[in-house]
Amino acid sequence: MSLPEFKLVRPRSLDEAICSLGEYPRDVQVLAGGTDLIPSLRQKLFEPRLVLDVRRIAELRGVRPQADGGVEIGALTTLTEIERSGFLRQHFPVLTEAAATVASPVLRNMGTLGGNICLDTRCLWYNQSLTWRKGCGFCIKKDGDICHVAPGGTKCWAAFSGDTPPALLCLNAEIEIAGVSGTRKIPLREFYTGSGDNYRKLERNELVTRILIPASSADYRGVYRKLRIRGSIDYPLAGVAVVLKRANGHVCDARVALTAVNPAPTLVKNAGAILEARAVDEAVAEQVGDLAARTAKPLTTSALTPEYRREMIRVFTKRAVLAAAN
Ligand SMILES: Cc1cc2nc3c(=O)[nH]c(=O)nc-3n(C[C@H](O)[C@H](O)[C@H](O)COP(=O)(O)OP(=O)(O)OC[C@H]3O[C@@H](n4cnc5c(N)ncnc54)[C@H](O)[C@@H]3O)c2cc1C
Ligand code: SF4
Repeated sequence: MSLPEFKLVRPRSLDEAICSLGEYPRDVQVLAGGTDLIPSLRQKLFEPRLVLDVRRIAELRGVRPQADGGVEIGALTTLTEIERSGFLRQHFPVLTEAAATVASPVLRNMGTLGGNICLDTRCLWYNQSLTWRKGCGFCIKKDGDICHVAPGGTKCWAAFSGDTPPALLCLNAEIEIAGVSGTRKIPLREFYTGSGDNYRKLERNELVTRILIPASSADYRGVYRKLRIRGSIDYPLAGVAVVLKRANGHVCDARVALTAVNPAPTLVKNAGAILEARAVDEAVAEQVGDLAARTAKPLTTSALTPEYRREMIRVFTKRAVLAAAN
């Protein structure tokens, strides 16, 4: 499968990158590690006039601990750097654990945290070659007007399938977005739309520059559990992150978030209320698992059945809660 034709620009600074974004405001695609984008370009899922390869922008790399105990991470920091960061492992272990499960070592050497946050949603009817999609029928997400997964509906249910966003949601992370009209910061939980087609609130002429985790989220115990078909290299088909803080033998704060079972990574509402001020045992962990399973809305977007994926969310959440508590 060949790449479509496009102009390639390789800026060396953020200012240069923003200038180029302004040149083709509606027809540009940011390239970071390229581990997801390049296969998608070959499948003609994107046909931009300009590809902006931002890999040379040194200021967007690195893990920078802040004086107050929080941390700032450049969007181009690779998943291997995240996984190996002693600071992150010590203070934000759920993030290093989630990063270590992405794809394979080679892909983690290339793939970036920003790319993982911005990752396109996935569906059996979408992540296919142009010939396949032409033969089987286009759909709402690209070139068509029907959904093969939920026929009769007008919504795209393609699943968000990045591993690090549930961990970052649990850590109350914010992201910085830069574009021609300036720079803004938003909580990551406000970044996703909940729809599988226009899945993120990012204009084509904007890019994610930094990820900020507040000091108040440091030193939570964290666990990430993931269901995939090939243990050595695969997107999640269900994933759950759990963080909790204990004081005097009881949980004083807890958060749970899911991935790969909805069009957006999703915080499980009220999970904290079940866990707080409790000594965590099997029954409490099971209650949180039930709540997580009710939050998950998997459809037939991947190789495993929705029923199995929802059930695995229940099982993995229970196990992750017990592991984080012990
Ligand atoms: C075989 C295989 C297995 C995989 N398994 C997993 C897995 O288990 N878990 C998982 O999470 N991912 C998986 N991936 C996907 C991918 O490797 C990772 O998600 C990786 O983190 C993507 O980062 P990247 O820098 O390569 O992004 P790219 O491929 O460069 O970009 C991905 C998307 O994000 C956009 N983008 C990238 N950076 C920015 C930015 N700074 N600002 C704005 N937009 C941006 C791009 O335009 C593109 O739309 C897999 C990929 C392959 C090929
Ligand atoms: S969920 Fe429906 S609209 Fe979305 S990619 Fe799959 S088939 Fe297409």
